[in-house]
Amino acid sequence: MKIAVDGHSSCGKSTLAKAVAQKFGFIYIDSGAMYRAVSLYALENKLLGNIGELENALSSGKIKIDFKSDKISGKDLTFLNEKLVEKEIRSLVVAQIVSEIAAIPFVRKEMVGLQRKLSENKSVVMDGRDIGTVVFPDAELKVFLTADAEIRAKRRYEELKNKGENSDYKAVLE
Ligand code: C5P
Repeated sequence: MKIAVDGHSSCGKSTLAKAVAQKFGFIYIDSGAMYRAVSLYALENKLLGNIGELENALSSGKIKIDFKSDKISGKDLTFLNEKLVEKEIRSLVVAQIVSEIAAIPFVRKEMVGLQRKLSENKSVVMDGRDIGTVVFPDAELKVFLTADAEIRAKRRYEELKNKGENSDYKAVLE
């Protein structure tokens, strides 16, 4: 079974998807982590201004992304070419370039292929804008999540605060 979770930002899409995966023994695949890992590779190999080289690296299998679960916490950790990069992919520098990298058509094509491959013959729950439309158009269940603006702003504000970033609730709500 495939479940696709789409929705507005800061409604708790990934929180919901992870909770469903845990409760029902489904696999949760973090598609955002994949785009973040490609972005980290581009940064580390100075390929930001060299999209052709990034395409070569992806198509020739030089960018290997996988997930392994942490033995203690049970949480999925992201590996790039066998190296644990969970912390690096959540950094500010990666956050600043990931939407640009994720907008490149061949990056999307490769990542969607990888998402489908990791999901083959498995029960999977995934969240993201393109999951119900592109990755699993035939998903048995598609959820569109929304919430009050105040709740969404509170979630985002707390997320920023926990990351140590200066933020103002009113500005976030605005
Ligand atoms: O979910 P997360 O914040 O880790 O995603 C990082 C970025 O990856 C998003 O801001 C978006 O640009 C991109 N992304 C995407 N398609 C997805 C998941 C994430 O383009 N399915």
